Amino acid sequence: MNTSPDALKDQLRAVQTRMASACAASGRRVDDVQLLAVSKTFSADDVRQVAACGQRDFGENYIQEGVDKITALQGGAQALVWHCIGPIQSNKTKLVAEYFDWAHTVDRLKIAQRLNDQRPAHSAPLNVCLQVNIDGGQTKSGIAPADVLALAREVAKLTRLKLRGLMTIPDPVVGFEAQVAVHAKARALFDEVKTALNLPQFDTLSMGMTNDLEAAIQAGSTMVRVGTAIFGGRTYTA
Ligand SMILES: *Cc1c(COP(=O)(O)O)cnc(C)c1O
Repeated sequence: MNTSPDALKDQLRAVQTRMASACAASGRRVDDVQLLAVSKTFSADDVRQVAACGQRDFGENYIQEGVDKITALQGGAQALVWHCIGPIQSNKTKLVAEYFDWAHTVDRLKIAQRLNDQRPAHSAPLNVCLQVNIDGGQTKSGIAPADVLALAREVAKLTRLKLRGLMTIPDPVVGFEAQVAVHAKARALFDEVKTALNLPQFDTLSMGMTNDLEAAIQAGSTMVRVGTAIFGGRTYTA
């Protein structure tokens, strides 16, 4: 499915407006919250169109699909920043370490160590967020909140990684207040870990998507990951 460049531009602007309103409503500065455009299932051409409107950060769930787009868009007018936001199996760490700028979904030391070992010497350290299972969903990936600080201390020692913060994907809940309540738990954990680590670079709380970005911003998100509202509905899932 191809969305026209004008429609993509309008949808991007609409998301930026939603973010600005949410920042205003919660007394935050617009530039405290970054937009990560989630381009999974959409083409490199769609990414190029959105990038042409000034969007710089893009997120991909499926690693090979992401690598294909990163490769296709290399050397473009504007350098893009690529974020891996999908599950990372051991056999995919090398691709993530070689191609991406960020990994949001680290939830095991073994994966962090592999990313560290495989990060090419000529690249800057890989930015990393620890994925937290903030609402305790049984089948979900992410580390338990109680285990986050211990993992963070170990990951912070890995010199080819730059520990940037936490990431969450809570199950959908109905209503703004209920959404804020879940995100507020992540914010409290983030503050606690930040204080304990005393690490200035630990500055990122990656949470909020198309349906709950206002609540996430209210609770303190610094990076919302938005797919549908920018690119439209997805027509397949892998
Ligand atoms: C798909 C996805 C998003 C974007 O979701 P939308 O509801 O389309 O905005 C954000 N984060 C992760 C981890 C995703 O997999």
